[in-house]
Amino acid sequence: MFGTRPKLVLYVDGVALVTRMRGFGTTVFAEMSALAERTGSINLGQGFPDQDGPAEVLEAAVDAIRSGANQYPPGPGVEDLRQAVAEHQKRFYGVDCDPDGEVLVTAGATEAITAAVLALCEPGSEVVVFEPFYDSYAAAIALAGAQRRAVPLQPPDWSLDPGRLRAAVSPRTRMVILNSPHNPTGKVFSVEELDAIAEVCQERDLVAVTDEVYEHLVFDGQHVPLATREGMAERTLTVSSAAKTFSVTGWKVGWVTGPAGLVGAVRTVKQFLTYVNGAPFQPAVAAGLRLPDSFFASTAWSLRERRDQLCAGLVAAGFAVHVPAGTYFVMADTGPLGYLDGAALAREMPERCGVVAVPAAAFYSDPSAPTPLLRFTFCKQNAVLDEAVRRLQRLRR
Ligand code: PMP
Ligand code: GLN
Repeated sequence: MFGTRPKLVLYVDGVALVTRMRGFGTTVFAEMSALAERTGSINLGQGFPDQDGPAEVLEAAVDAIRSGANQYPPGPGVEDLRQAVAEHQKRFYGVDCDPDGEVLVTAGATEAITAAVLALCEPGSEVVVFEPFYDSYAAAIALAGAQRRAVPLQPPDWSLDPGRLRAAVSPRTRMVILNSPHNPTGKVFSVEELDAIAEVCQERDLVAVTDEVYEHLVFDGQHVPLATREGMAERTLTVSSAAKTFSVTGWKVGWVTGPAGLVGAVRTVKQFLTYVNGAPFQPAVAAGLRLPDSFFASTAWSLRERRDQLCAGLVAAGFAVHVPAGTYFVMADTGPLGYLDGAALAREMPERCGVVAVPAAAFYSDPSAPTPLLRFTFCKQNAVLDEAVRRLQRLRR
C-alpha cells in the first residue's frame, strides 16, 4: 500500500516535496518580484500593471460586497458572470455557449488549466506544450503524473513547425496546451498555425486546452480562438481570465468554456480544489465583460504605445528585440550586449542598473540551460518605462 505513495525526496525551505514536484521551487515571477522589492529596483519582471483597471469594474466589486455577496457563490460560478462570458464569446468570436453547462468560473486561468489537466490526464498520459511555455503548465502536468512533450517555437519570430508537432505526439498523448497570445514571446498564432494544430488534434483525437488570457492585448493581427477552427469546438476547452483584460491580477477570476462533457470534467476537479471562488468579484467581472468595444480597443491601444516605447528603449540600450504582436511582454536578446546567460545577468541587474526582468530560461524544459533572453513587461506607466530604459543604458560594457 505504501508503495503506491509518491516518495518524499526533496525539501524546499524545510517543507517536503513529493517526487512529482521535484524541481519546482518558488516560481520565478515571485522570486523576481521579491528581488525587486528587496533592492528597490524597477520591476519589469512579473506581469502586473501599476495602474487600476476600469472604475466601473472596481465599483461593482465594492457594491457587491456592500450588498452582501459575501458567501459561497454557486459551484459553476455566479449566473450573471456565466451569462456575461457566453455573451463575450458570441460578441467577439461568434461562438455560442450555454451558460448552463458550457461555462465554468474558476480561480483564475491557472485553476482552469490545472483542473483540466487533472481531469483529463492520467499517470503516463502525455501533454504537448509549445516551448517556451508558461510555468504552471509544467506543474499541472507533473501533478497529474503525466509527461510533458515540448515542441519548440523557433526564434526570432517563434514560428511553429507542424512536422515537429506531429513528431511529438504518441499514442499516449491526450492533450495539447496552446497559449495564444503567447507568454513570454508575445507571439499571436496565425490561422495557418492554428489549422495545423487543429489537424493534428483531430487526426490523433487530442483535447486542446487554450490559454487565452491575453486575448484582448493584441496589437498586430487578430486573436483567433482555436475553438473557432473547423472541427475544434467539440474538443477544445477555452480558458481566459479577468486578470489581464481588467488589470485585476489579484482577483483570480477566470473561466473555461467548451462542450458540456469536458467542462463538467473540469468542474468535478475544481469542486475539490477550491469549490468556488471570489463571490463579489464575479458580478464585477460580468460588468467588465459587458463594457463597450471602445474599452477593449483603448486598452490594447494604450499598451501598444508602451510596447513601442519599451522596445525602442531596449534597442537603444543595446538589446535585440523581436517586437511582440500581443501580451504585455517583450523578449530581449542580451547577446548584442555581450551576455550569453540571461539568468546570470537577471541576478546582477538590480545592482548594475536597478531594473528587474525575468530570465527566459524559466520558460524552458531545462531552466539551467543558458539562454541570452530576458523577458520585460511593459504594463507600467510611461514615466516608469522611461526611467527603466534610462537605467538599462548602464549595462553596456
Ligand atoms: N496563463 C498565462 C499565459 C499567464 O501569463 C498567466 C499570468 N497571469 C496566467 C495564465 C494566470 O492567469 P490567472 O491569474 O487568471 O490565473
Ligand atoms: N503571469 C504572470 C507573468 O507571466 C505571473 C503570474 C505569477 O506570478 N504566477 O509574469
